Amino acid sequence: MAEETIFSKIIRREIPSDILFQDELVTAFRDISPQAPSHILIVPNVLIPTANDVQAEHEAALGRMITVASKIAKQEGIAEDGYRLIINCNKHGGQEVYHIHLHLVGGRPLGPMLA
Ligand code: 5GP
Repeated sequence: MAEETIFSKIIRREIPSDILFQDELVTAFRDISPQAPSHILIVPNVLIPTANDVQAEHEAALGRMITVASKIAKQEGIAEDGYRLIINCNKHGGQEVYHIHLHLVGGRPLGPMLA
C-alpha cells in the first residue's frame, strides 16, 4: 500500500489550499509555488503514486484530469494563447510528490520543453 502524501490531506480538505474544482474523481488546486501566472495541479482523488502505477481502472479519473484542465484553462483565460500539461514521473522526471498529478501551467511563454 502506497504512503499518502500532502495531496490526500488537500483532497480531504484537512489542510487549506486554493481548490478550484472537485468532483467524485479528481481535485484541482493552485500550486503552492507557482512557476507561471497560472499553475494548477489536477490530481485523482485516489492515490496513484506515479505514472508507472496507472491501471485500466484509473482511466476515468485520468481522462477527467484532462477534461478539468481544459475547462480551468478557459476559466483562467489562458486557453487561446496556450499552456502546458505535464506529468512528472520518478527521479529523472523531477517528481517530488508521489501522488500522480497533472500540472497545468500557463499565462506566459514557456520556452523549450526540456531543461
Ligand atoms: P512534482 O515535482 O512532484 O511534479 O510537483 C509537485 C508540485 O507540488 C510542486 O510544483 C510543488 O510546488 C507542489 N506542492 C508541494 N506541496 C504542496 C502543497 O502543500 N500545496 C500545494 N498547493 N502544492 C504543493
